[in-house]
Amino acid sequence: MFVDSHCHLEMESFSQDREQVITKSIDEGLKYILTVGTEERYFEKVAEIMNTNPMVYGAIGIHPHNSTDFNKNVAETIRTCLKQKKIVGYGEIGLDFFKNYSPRDAQIKAFREQLSLAADEGLPVIIHSRNARTETLQILGETYRNGNGGVIHCYSYDLETAKRLLDMGFFISIPGTITYRSAEELTKVVEYIPDERILAETDAPFLTPHPHRGKRNVPYFVKLTVARIAEIRHQEIGELAATMCTNFTGLFLKDQEVPVE
Ligand SMILES: [Zn+2]
Ligand SMILES: [Zn+2]
Repeated sequence: MFVDSHCHLEMESFSQDREQVITKSIDEGLKYILTVGTEERYFEKVAEIMNTNPMVYGAIGIHPHNSTDFNKNVAETIRTCLKQKKIVGYGEIGLDFFKNYSPRDAQIKAFREQLSLAADEGLPVIIHSRNARTETLQILGETYRNGNGGVIHCYSYDLETAKRLLDMGFFISIPGTITYRSAEELTKVVEYIPDERILAETDAPFLTPHPHRGKRNVPYFVKLTVARIAEIRHQEIGELAATMCTNFTGLFLKDQEVPVE
């Protein structure tokens, strides 16, 4: 049983075949999917998908790319949306100094304010951080004690950074890039992360793993990523996948009525 701990089923790339993709994911052995709404315009769709599919859960937040959209009104809308039972995480939030679609100051402000909103609401956070290692470590270092834990999604930094984030109690989620030939540093991270802190994700429709690179990514491709992680860690894939399900449940589904096996 697998879990895709981060994808974007609400996005337009899935508007033609969303239900088929979810059905196929169940057939392929996925037990949970977390779909992450990154802008206000997606929040309703996230709710619709999670409310019609028992194995899909939702998270919402304003993505760093859209930091300039975050204001008091949006915060109120988010607070209302968070009352829904199957919204289990806050995010993705963070800093993206690679694309810089929003000015850095705006990103930092939105990140801090949303971390505090998530803490108020008792939700774990989903962190997006790219080319912003120092600032991310600093802000999380100041705030993590007030929070409810969380995950660094699409992990892309080195081992030293991973150690610091693990010390703060965060989970680390490995994307499909681990299947690419250039994944040397990420391989070291994958070797190091303790069993009880590791997750895998697709970030579908983005970051398609090998050998499907170039095509749209889908949640069940997470199996390729888990297979590669298992190979690196010399673990049995079924065991690792089960560990990841336990980790996902522990982080996000503590208050949910999940089916007992
Ligand atoms: Zn992201
Ligand atoms: Zn994402």
